[in-house]
Amino acid sequence: MEQPTRPLSPEKILDVWEAGRQQHELDRALTLLTAASGLSRDELADLTIGERDARLLRLRKLVLGAGAAGISECPECGERVEFAIDTATIATRPANCLTKLWKPSARRCCKLIRSRKLSSR
Ligand SMILES: [Zn+2]
Repeated sequence: MEQPTRPLSPEKILDVWEAGRQQHELDRALTLLTAASGLSRDELADLTIGERDARLLRLRKLVLGAGAAGISECPECGERVEFAIDTATIATRPANCLTKLWKPSARRCCKLIRSRKLSSR
């Protein structure tokens, strides 16, 4: 199912923004990828979260470039830190498993969970 992600025209970005602004984040991700991939929403909902996020990062790079601004807060003193990050660095590392953050005893990794599964909860 590997389809090239294509950049979005300014008009298409506005269409996607308009359609996605009232949507849940799960649906917004699928709206973006549907516009950029030519795949159906159904096909994209079957991607693992890791595959989905890799495609979102590729799309972001095509539209906005590889640079991104990160913001974090020190857990000790609360000091806010801003930093620049190359999204290629994120894409080459496995994402943190959110399932294991929510439930440390979980056996499954969220990277194997699919959008379809999350939206049915
Ligand atoms: Zn600190």
